[in-house]
Amino acid sequence: MSHKSADKIQELQYFGEFGGVNPSISDSSTYTFISAKTMFDTFEGNTEGCYLYSRHSSPSNLYLGEALAALEGTESANVYASGMGAISSVIMQLCDSGHHIVSSRTIYGGTYAFIKNFLKKFNIQTSFIDITDLEVVEQSITAKTKMIYCEAVSNPLLEVANINALSKIAKKRGIPLVVDNTFSPLSISAAELGADVVIHSLTKFINGTSDCVAGAVCASTDFCLALKDVNDGAGMLFGSTLDSLRAASILKNMRTLHIRMKKHSENTLYLATQFEKDGLKTVYPGLESHDGHKTFKSQMNCEYGYGGLMTLDVGSLEMANALMEMMQAKNIGYLAVSLGFYKTLFSTPGTSTSSEISKEEQDEMGLSDGLIRFSIGLDNDIHKTYLEIKKCMIALGILRDIAVMV
Ligand SMILES: *Cc1c(COP(=O)(O)O)cnc(C)c1O
Repeated sequence: MSHKSADKIQELQYFGEFGGVNPSISDSSTYTFISAKTMFDTFEGNTEGCYLYSRHSSPSNLYLGEALAALEGTESANVYASGMGAISSVIMQLCDSGHHIVSSRTIYGGTYAFIKNFLKKFNIQTSFIDITDLEVVEQSITAKTKMIYCEAVSNPLLEVANINALSKIAKKRGIPLVVDNTFSPLSISAAELGADVVIHSLTKFINGTSDCVAGAVCASTDFCLALKDVNDGAGMLFGSTLDSLRAASILKNMRTLHIRMKKHSENTLYLATQFEKDGLKTVYPGLESHDGHKTFKSQMNCEYGYGGLMTLDVGSLEMANALMEMMQAKNIGYLAVSLGFYKTLFSTPGTSTSSEISKEEQDEMGLSDGLIRFSIGLDNDIHKTYLEIKKCMIALGILRDIAVMV
């Protein structure tokens, strides 16, 4: 499968105001016009390349948008102040009161809470379904359904969506397929596989330094402009605008995304393989034992691997907490939510990022108490990390000390 995204990002060439190798940052919220007529035309959306006010667009945000469009191979991309800013804007743009959504049931906790609790206010109903069961997906679509929503690789259970098959269903029913691709940038080219709208939380791998919150929507130029429309664009009117300084720093970090993703994937595959061999309940799409392995393999850009997220089930919340505290004390990583950092991050999703999902619903989707989600870092010597984690597990009785520790 062709995967020129990283090359396209590298090829984006900018010159700063003084010949700088990075584009100049637009340090302005508002822009002047020589003629009052041009200002009016800009308001009407008729002047390409003119800036009006930075909530609508700014040069720095457009540069970052260009890189994100290159990443997903879409015509255009808008950036937002957070992943949730992007997600809520897309959903509110596509749905009116009385409409219906077909959504995967294993999605990011914040998205789940937004769809399940917040959209109630607007009388928007949602069927939360098993996105890997294509028959159920098809049966859940009604005349009122306005989108199929899923994550390419789901949070936190790492379920893999068959984007190609879902897009065929969506096309047949004339509705858009919206895919959150936060967990698998570069590995999965969601738009190329048929997604109509691709969302990213830039907070995670794409920025990769855990120092800011940001989001993006990659889609057709029409849809991106509709989101920005001064009269009825959800992106424009909800006001979830990314600051130019941040847009500039995220763009610089994107230059190394391809290298980072390869290393995240390589390290995670190594650990997942070892832990599975050790007899631990390990979930990683790169393992043949994973339900979504074949689907992932069939739609991936091979060189980027299966991503940087894995889960281990250590039996109970108490055990999970003890292990995480010990791993942090040994400087293996941080007990923290989020993902895509250079250092390994771990948390128990049941009590953190997915706590918006009720206990019963968590049980139903297979989200157990002892489940630890790992975002594996860029460790230079992952075998050493493996041995260190294993030492903690042996100390806590999760693993027995039978292996020779070399
Ligand atoms: C973190 C995350 C979000 C939300 O992004 P923010 O930048 O925190 O608003 C959405 N989807 C997924 C899959 C995420 O991991």
